[in-house]
Amino acid sequence: MREALEFVIKPSNYVSALCYSIFRLEPFTTCSFGCVYCYARWYRGPHGRPRPKWETVRAFEKIAKKYNDFFFRLATLSDPFQEPYGITLKLLEVAKKYEVPIIINTKSDAVVKPDVLPLLKSLASRSLVLVQLSASTLSYSKVLEPGAPDVRRRLGAVGVLASEGVPVVVRVQPLFPGLEEEHLRVAEEALSRGALGLIGESFRGTRRDIELIYKLLGMRIPDRWEPYQLNVVEGKEPLFHPPKEWRERMHYSLATLASRYGKHYSECKDSCTFYGLGRDCCMFWKVSSVHKLRYTLRELLAGIPCKEPYACDGPPPLGKFLRMHHRKVQKLKDEHLEKLCGVEFHPPLHI
Ligand code: SF4
Repeated sequence: MREALEFVIKPSNYVSALCYSIFRLEPFTTCSFGCVYCYARWYRGPHGRPRPKWETVRAFEKIAKKYNDFFFRLATLSDPFQEPYGITLKLLEVAKKYEVPIIINTKSDAVVKPDVLPLLKSLASRSLVLVQLSASTLSYSKVLEPGAPDVRRRLGAVGVLASEGVPVVVRVQPLFPGLEEEHLRVAEEALSRGALGLIGESFRGTRRDIELIYKLLGMRIPDRWEPYQLNVVEGKEPLFHPPKEWRERMHYSLATLASRYGKHYSECKDSCTFYGLGRDCCMFWKVSSVHKLRYTLRELLAGIPCKEPYACDGPPPLGKFLRMHHRKVQKLKDEHLEKLCGVEFHPPLHI
């Protein structure tokens, strides 16, 4: 049970309501990329020198034998391709052996290195991998992500992956008021290099985070921010995100740009937009239609039944966690809809 817990994202309002998979792989203890906006710090503590968690490989092998219906995120608390990334290759080998689908979240161009690319191509040929490369701005990446590979190298990697047949989308995140042109420039570079689509996620952070980031950017803090949480946790600093109208406009601009290239756009954890039967906002549906998706609030509100390709439950050892998240979805249906589903989209979002 304790081992299984390592592979699951805990129930929370936004994740339970809106995420299509709750399973994850965490190869490292921390992250050396040192992004100033990093959300992972809230869960795993400060940035630092990462230590590979070798015990995860054996534990994943046990899980992978029994559980390959849903995609796993690699990773949520650190960059899986920071050095030394040998452990990440081992996890991907296990995924290949047991045919476990993987979404790689990274800011590293190591994904196109000679020791990595052949493995990704082999996973791609089995419809088992989607790479999500993150890039937010062209001009400020050194300020906001001081230890991460240069954003132009990341965009170069998008082109290589696309030309080698490895499915890749670009996460334009975090989105900040005042950096709209930067976000659109990075998005256009990604699309022109062959990204299959874009995912946008607005920034969220404490007052102190907001002050620090705008100081580093050398910009005045935009006036209006909205409370982010549905419930503020006692003893923790409250979180804020940009106002709804700004988020709607920013998502709409990115969606319009993507549709000009004939590509897709989805927002991350910002609305209850239903993307279509069997489609998820992570865009794993572009890779595979045989894997299951978690049943989310989006499907519930759209009146879609919880049956294949969706699941609210599953066999041991992880099925119990799907049930826990699903109970939360049912509760959220009657509460907080205004907050969770506040942002609305209009065409040309869907192609
Ligand atoms: S790469 Fe991800 S986990 Fe690492 S510091 Fe940046 S935001 Fe945090």
